[in-house]
Amino acid sequence: MVAAPAEPTTTRECLACGAAFASVGTHHRICDACKDVGAWADPASHAPLYW
Ligand SMILES: [Zn+2]
Repeated sequence: MVAAPAEPTTTRECLACGAAFASVGTHHRICDACKDVGAWADPASHAPLYW
């Protein structure tokens, strides 16, 4: 018996640059390249060190 993945990936378009990337959840809307920049981040709802 194999459990279903807790966080299946889905291809989404990055909200910042529009590139398709593998998203791990509905909260994940920014590709790795853009989230590394951090300019999009809302400091009230994200802890920068987790990125
Ligand atoms: Zn991007």
